Amino acid sequence: MTDASPTGPTILTAWKGAHKRLKDGRIDSPAIDARLLLEAASGATRTDILTDPYRPVTPEQQATLDGYVERRLRREPVSRILGRKAFWKILLNVTPDVLSPRPDTETLLDVSLLAFPPSEAFNVIDLGVGSGAILLALLAERPAARGLGTDVSSEAIAVARENAANLDLNGRTTFLRTEWAAGLADHSFDLVLSNPPYIPSGDIPGLDPEVRDHDPHLALDGGEDGLDAYRALAPEILRILKPGGIYAIEIGHDQGEAVKALFDEAGLPGAKIVRDLADRDRVVTNGPDPRTTPRPS
Ligand code: GLN
Repeated sequence: MTDASPTGPTILTAWKGAHKRLKDGRIDSPAIDARLLLEAASGATRTDILTDPYRPVTPEQQATLDGYVERRLRREPVSRILGRKAFWKILLNVTPDVLSPRPDTETLLDVSLLAFPPSEAFNVIDLGVGSGAILLALLAERPAARGLGTDVSSEAIAVARENAANLDLNGRTTFLRTEWAAGLADHSFDLVLSNPPYIPSGDIPGLDPEVRDHDPHLALDGGEDGLDAYRALAPEILRILKPGGIYAIEIGHDQGEAVKALFDEAGLPGAKIVRDLADRDRVVTNGPDPRTTPRPS
């Protein structure tokens, strides 16, 4: 009887090994992270991992995976290791110059998509566009809409432009390096969106290393009380919004009342607080609340 040939690593054993190392290293979501890193290292898809678990992994692929796992154990986020991150229904390139898109921010999409039906032609601005996540996810869903993204970081704008081109949305997007809406015309947007920096400066040293050491502080630091950006934004949103227009602005989970008060004081109409899927305050808007508005069928 001949001996079974020695079996090397397969995508299943590689996944299990990476999972164990991440779990032992107390990484938050070891199973998902191991899968994402394995997919990138081996070229296998999620479906391959499920349907073809005994496919061999080459020594080069295993070495790549081991390198990724090492980086993750040093608390580099998966999005930064891979240079890309999924948001809503799109995939974005991300670099050290942009905030990695977060699922919480998808609440802005929920509000916007309810406010503007699929075939409506409208124009939207994203103030502090970063990677382009919010603006591009929305334009991908609303083929008659046009968008403008501003940012003070020219590096961020370069990333957003690249993402727009990769998604074939560059024909409907413009990017401008400016501070919030500086230089833009009064009453010119149907929809104003932003996920501004809102972490109080003193809280930044205590953030998770994935955020503190890898997201740009420009995109996190909201000044002493975390509200600096909202003070700057409130009069600008009022100025650039068309009559009857909608705004939806992300907030920290404990900033709802403070931001609503700031917006009320600035004369922005109809400010109310909307919660995210984790049931935390996440957006201040005059638009529909996704949790109480039935979805159009
Ligand atoms: N939601 C981000 C975080 O808590 C902060 C992003 C921001 O300041 N806009 O990590």
